[in-house]
Amino acid sequence: MAGLYIHIPFCHSKCIYCDFYSTPRIDSLDQLLDALLREYQRRHDEISETFSTVYIGGGTPSIIPTDKLAQLLRSLPVGDAKEFTIEANPEDITSEAVKAWRDMGINRISMGIQSFDDIELKAIGRRHSADDAARAIETIIGHGITNISCDLIYGLPGQDAASWRRSLDRLLAYRLPHLSAYCLSYEPGTALYARMTAGKIRPTDDEALEEMYALLCRRAAEHGYEHYEISNFALPGMRSRHNSSYWTSTPYLGLGPGAHSFDGSVRRYNPGDLKTYITAADITVIDNENDDDRFNDVIITSLRTSDGLDLGKLTEKRRNYLIKTASPFVTDRSMIKTGQNLRISEPAWFRSDAILRELIV
Ligand code: SF4
Repeated sequence: MAGLYIHIPFCHSKCIYCDFYSTPRIDSLDQLLDALLREYQRRHDEISETFSTVYIGGGTPSIIPTDKLAQLLRSLPVGDAKEFTIEANPEDITSEAVKAWRDMGINRISMGIQSFDDIELKAIGRRHSADDAARAIETIIGHGITNISCDLIYGLPGQDAASWRRSLDRLLAYRLPHLSAYCLSYEPGTALYARMTAGKIRPTDDEALEEMYALLCRRAAEHGYEHYEISNFALPGMRSRHNSSYWTSTPYLGLGPGAHSFDGSVRRYNPGDLKTYITAADITVIDNENDDDRFNDVIITSLRTSDGLDLGKLTEKRRNYLIKTASPFVTDRSMIKTGQNLRISEPAWFRSDAILRELIV
């Protein structure tokens, strides 16, 4: 089993909180598509297994004209994908687009809704309204793609516990197979960060954020969702297979500017720069990890999940280190050790960054 990730770096405009690599320069689309094919031809033998998951992410892949996307996919080995996802924004969802995606083999849509409150959406620069998001969900389901994931954000400017609950409950009422919910992050370099440092926006305090997270966990459980990763919830059997591969060290090949890859032992990445990506012969960089880096990768990825870490897969020295370092957290119940399994307890996931910082070497 392996995954294929294709990064489409175009967005209509920049959301004020976003620090992903993206550009509005869609006039470079044809050159990007050519460069993606060249990159695949150059790197296809890095991974020998067939791609059982494919994920077209961004940016906003849903802004690509469907005939151009179909042309790209005809030249890539996507035919064995059991899970084939495209990320989409609500304003791009039309009957024609969904039908065309379905004909390409795409069977899962991950949509950035973020909030069902129009004032909150406007405050972060989203282009869609709450009703656009609702219409988009209904259009997707109406055209036969039922495997849908939607993203929400908590801690938005102007959001309070009541409006967070309204957004959450409106989404949960659809009983979609998958839900991702992220805490708003103030990343240096974003417009959001600049507004915060200028005193125009005040971040939500930690106590309120923790209450929002607790509400999220509780309401998702009441609706039958498994909380299988810090920010991810799925109905039984509907976990994201592709994203799970990132947390279980499954190989994946990432194509496009800013994409990362892992062939089972070596990590590689492409710098996030469209112009260089479409003009240079080869921009892929090998991430020269040492043993400590690889150990840290395992800790950071596996302890994000409810499945946790199998201590039996570590060397005796690493295992002993981790058991000792984690013991205060096991004592205060923010971590749980059962036999050879170590994991962070759900209530402690909200402060998992602080725990992981203590565990890495
Ligand atoms: S649509 Fe997504 S990738 Fe594009 S700017 Fe907004 S958050 Fe970032």
